Amino acid sequence: MRVWIGIDDTDSRKGMCTTYLALILIDRLKEVGEVVGFPRLIRLNPTIPYKTRGNGAVSFLAEIDDLDKAVEIAEEVVRKYAELDDPNTNPGVVFVDEAKVSLLREFARRAITDVLSIEDAIDVLEKLRIEHLKFKNGRGLIGALASVGAVLEDFVYELIAYRLPERIGKPREFDKESFYELDFLFYPTIFDTVDWCNDVVMAVPGTPCPVLFGLRGEDPDLLKKALSIIKTEPFDRFQIFQTNHATDMHIICDEEIKNFRSYRVVGRLIEKPYEIVGGHIFFKIKTNSGNLKCAAFEPTKQFRNIIRALIPGDLVEVYGSVKNETLNLEKIRILELEKQFLLLNPICPICGKRMESSGKGQGFRCRNCKTKYFEKIKVEVPRKIETGYYEVPPCARRHLSKPLIRMNVSGRHIFR
Ligand SMILES: [Zn+2]
Repeated sequence: MRVWIGIDDTDSRKGMCTTYLALILIDRLKEVGEVVGFPRLIRLNPTIPYKTRGNGAVSFLAEIDDLDKAVEIAEEVVRKYAELDDPNTNPGVVFVDEAKVSLLREFARRAITDVLSIEDAIDVLEKLRIEHLKFKNGRGLIGALASVGAVLEDFVYELIAYRLPERIGKPREFDKESFYELDFLFYPTIFDTVDWCNDVVMAVPGTPCPVLFGLRGEDPDLLKKALSIIKTEPFDRFQIFQTNHATDMHIICDEEIKNFRSYRVVGRLIEKPYEIVGGHIFFKIKTNSGNLKCAAFEPTKQFRNIIRALIPGDLVEVYGSVKNETLNLEKIRILELEKQFLLLNPICPICGKRMESSGKGQGFRCRNCKTKYFEKIKVEVPRKIETGYYEVPPCARRHLSKPLIRMNVSGRHIFR
């Protein structure tokens, strides 16, 4: 029989990675069958409060002779490798008959864009009679089901290389230059490998997990080819996943704006952006459903220069996740720029020099020509930004955010 197996929430802040555990499971399942096609790495709603790391779940399609044995193997693997001692690690594994997968579409859509409870997952499992393994409170069942049900209309591939077991936890050894070389050669088919401007290698994580690096791209063959370019410590193995990274799958366009969801929404600036200590910038827009506070936090680096240059009256479309009634910007599309004026002293019509003030409330005068004028004049000054799309730099990009380089739109301003 053909079964989709989904697995989630096996890692903790201290270690493991659900993708790695899934690969151990895939290896072990060779006893009872084989995996068909690429395993999938599906990122769920990135704003969910109890997840501190990427909130990614894994699923794969397997041709299996003995389902009971497969369930037994999965239980063994999770017991042995998941971070079960961590109170926030609550694994779930599901085994879904291929024929039932389409019934999970809506559940998956909600797990990526909305907030679901463990009860929601249990309901679906019972209603559809889906074989599953629940560990502790079983929160991972949400992601496990969603990773199976997600329909990837848009997707990319992620090649993940894993460290040798004895090196996990030690600093990662890699040649930074070689990752820049890779980017130079293969961008944009392989993208978000490095951030040139901020000098960050994004492909290499800083967490204590088994991942050595991850390469993101449109073409699995090219990802494999790229392995010959980068220089790193020896790695144990690598695997290519199909994923909803870089697709904006988390973004919705609802009228009503709620916390813990991600939106694309149009609005007009009603106040000048202001900065607080730490370099975080905020502004408010008026949308069809009320005012919305937007933020460009310090880690978004040079993107903040675009935000600083906005003025009241500008019409924008913002993209990002809402938490604390504030939309955390991932991208912005500037639709209309308000004209910007400076108020200056008038020019003398006779000699062409700028007039001087005659004293408070007394207007202006030219001392030489004795000309007078009562008001300051408005002078239009050019804006520093133009209409079109702007995005955060690669180093500030979320897994699910679609980079402009992948968007078929005009007026892209790309930070590379
Ligand atoms: Zn004059």
